[in-house]
Amino acid sequence: MPTLPVPDLIEFKFQFIRDGKAVGWKKRGLLDESRLVLDKQEIPLTGVTRVIRVRRRLLIQYVEPDSDGQPTSWSVAVGVYGRWFAMVKRKLDLSIATRLLEEARDQCRDRGQPNEFRSQACPHCGCGIDLTGLPRTTYIYCPFCETVFNDSGICTCGDDYGVCGTCGLFGRIVDFTEWYFFFLLVFWYFQTREHRLCTSCRSSLRWGMFWASLGGLVSIFPYLFTRLLTARPPSRVQRALRRGGRLARKGKPDAAGNAYGPAYDRWPDHPGLLFNEITACFKVGDQRGTEDRSERLFRACSSYYPAEELLRRNSAPAALAAAAQADAV
Ligand SMILES: [Zn+2]
Ligand SMILES: [Zn+2]
Repeated sequence: MPTLPVPDLIEFKFQFIRDGKAVGWKKRGLLDESRLVLDKQEIPLTGVTRVIRVRRRLLIQYVEPDSDGQPTSWSVAVGVYGRWFAMVKRKLDLSIATRLLEEARDQCRDRGQPNEFRSQACPHCGCGIDLTGLPRTTYIYCPFCETVFNDSGICTCGDDYGVCGTCGLFGRIVDFTEWYFFFLLVFWYFQTREHRLCTSCRSSLRWGMFWASLGGLVSIFPYLFTRLLTARPPSRVQRALRRGGRLARKGKPDAAGNAYGPAYDRWPDHPGLLFNEITACFKVGDQRGTEDRSERLFRACSSYYPAEELLRRNSAPAALAAAAQADAV
């Protein structure tokens, strides 16, 4: 069952985002069963194709006719405030998922193979995932909320784990506020920036904040105070993820694989961890390692879309072929 209730009608406040910055006053938005209204702009839900979360903002991609009546892809970025953020994302995802499943079902029926249609509801967000044509594997990946689950339930929930937008590696994802405060008797300066990133990237940012805080007379004290308040001892699996992530970033796939040991004990052949090892293989041009790990990954989770995208982006036809072979088994 989805963990977040989604009402039929959502009224929310938002700001348009341009060039990464919120512009203008807060405006009113509305989302119901058939349309998304952003101030004066109305987008039919049948045209919305994808919703990408970037930190606390949403990039909404949709198709609408242009001035010549030709279907054209557009996108709009918005910052949605408060608890409505997750609900708007979830409701748009549910609408897209329902439409994609209907299309897949129709295609199977048109081909005269209605029994080929296969889908599974994500236990976290409730979106239906189209698995038509994919072999049954231990894990299923939800492309809407990034949750990885198996027959026993959720393994890594997309609210806490996913591919980091900063370093491009799978890991534990957290919301983090980067802030700088300087006080130099006659001059003071305060700045904040919101991030959603993995814990390794957060550590790098924290070091930057620490060194910067030494530049002010009293800046180090608020820094140390907030660090003490937010410090939590990491679990064995969290430590393994951090260590493995560091090694993957340095291009050491075998060492990363060893470091991930405790995480693999908990989630054998987890696609996110293999994804990191493949990323490390690309860094050092290890083609054999890429192929072996891709095969393992798609044997474990045939629907892990981030790995497919990674292999395509790095033009790895052999690895994709190996993955396809694994799929065919
Ligand atoms: Zn999901
Ligand atoms: Zn990161």
